[in-house]
Amino acid sequence: MKKIALFGATGSIGRSTLDVVGTIDGFRVLAISGHKNLPLLREQMERFRPRWVILTDEEAAKEWDFPVPAGTEICVGMKALTEIAAEPEVEIVVSAIVGRAGLESTVAAARAGKRIALANKESLVIGGAIVKRLAKESGARIVPVDSEHSAIFQALHAGKRYELERVILTASGGPFFRLPDEELRNVTVAQALKHPTWNMGAKVTLDSATLMNKALEIIEAKWLFDLNMEKPELEVMIHPQSVVHSMVEFQDGAVIAQLSPPDMRLPIQNALTYPDRVGGGPTRRTDWTRNQTLEFFSPDYSNPRFDALKLGLETARRGGTAGAVLNAANDLAVSAFIRGEIRFDEIVPRIRHCVEEHDFRPEPTLEELIELDQEIRKKRIMNNE
Ligand code: NAD
Ligand code: MG
Repeated sequence: MKKIALFGATGSIGRSTLDVVGTIDGFRVLAISGHKNLPLLREQMERFRPRWVILTDEEAAKEWDFPVPAGTEICVGMKALTEIAAEPEVEIVVSAIVGRAGLESTVAAARAGKRIALANKESLVIGGAIVKRLAKESGARIVPVDSEHSAIFQALHAGKRYELERVILTASGGPFFRLPDEELRNVTVAQALKHPTWNMGAKVTLDSATLMNKALEIIEAKWLFDLNMEKPELEVMIHPQSVVHSMVEFQDGAVIAQLSPPDMRLPIQNALTYPDRVGGGPTRRTDWTRNQTLEFFSPDYSNPRFDALKLGLETARRGGTAGAVLNAANDLAVSAFIRGEIRFDEIVPRIRHCVEEHDFRPEPTLEELIELDQEIRKKRIMNNE
């Protein structure tokens, strides 16, 4: 039995992870965490009987008054995540908390030498250099959960690293790919929260609409696969069907792709069972009796609607503090949009402004990155932005 700590169990990725673990053999859930949805966390506790249930939101935790089964301990606060990530019995940490809040527990798992099934792309966007260094020192293995990165990870097995020509990261293009340019300014919050091919948490859905999700994924890919962004070893293609999850092109011109219906349970399962593949999982299968068309479009970088991709490529090239600022600025701009303070087409320019303005440092420490993140969020509140 492989023992898993699942951080962010109540979210979209967390629930899908429990679907996988409940369907295939060989895994025991040792820890689950949830922030606000305590009734769901309770259900998960009763079904999986973990040793630890972590209530990360200390305020919400006061409302917890469910009976706790024998053998389960309730832990409160974010610190419990970093402690449990380092518990010797934990073999796999599934990092499925959303946003900046996933950083410390991912870092703790990297420091402790765990297998990390990484969904929380933000931790690499903010602290990729640090997470990678810690993982190298401790022997931690990061296996991506993000579907594109899982595809790249799988496709890379077809050749050697030095044979790699480029990675082709696919993007669905989001719900507005076919919307005329001049209508982007009128996009509403409700429209931005509806994704054409994927069913995901609210933040990643909104990030997909602005294409900032792809910007974050460019940076995530750079760190996961040590890509040279100057050459560049990464390109983005729009692929609206989300069936080809990404591709890898080798020196000889061969392109290796990974295909499957858009369902996160496959990349999650792959991250858990790697280097093995197992049958019987819950994931949907490709229906080969049905005719289908797969389309690919190269983004036109002269069109401002693809500015998020440009910003992602630039930020990945810069490294240092740029990713942390991009991530925090994205959260702020998206909140401003949700509150109705800025238009949809103002989100990316806002983020760019923030990244370009900041006092760049090439080799920040983790503490400096956390401080910078807080500073950006605080400053914006004071400026009432
Ligand atoms: P979600 O919003 O559905 O769930 C987030 C989880 O994090 C919940 O369990 C919630 O309780 C917890 N959480 C929220 N705020 C927290 C905080 N401040 N402290 C501690 N825990 C907190 O999000 P999701 O869609 O499952 O995404 C999780 C991560 O996976 C994100 O980084 C996202 O980019 C990535 N991802 C998601 C998908 C997808 O299909 N949903 C695909 C690829 C990557
Ligand atoms: Mg993705």
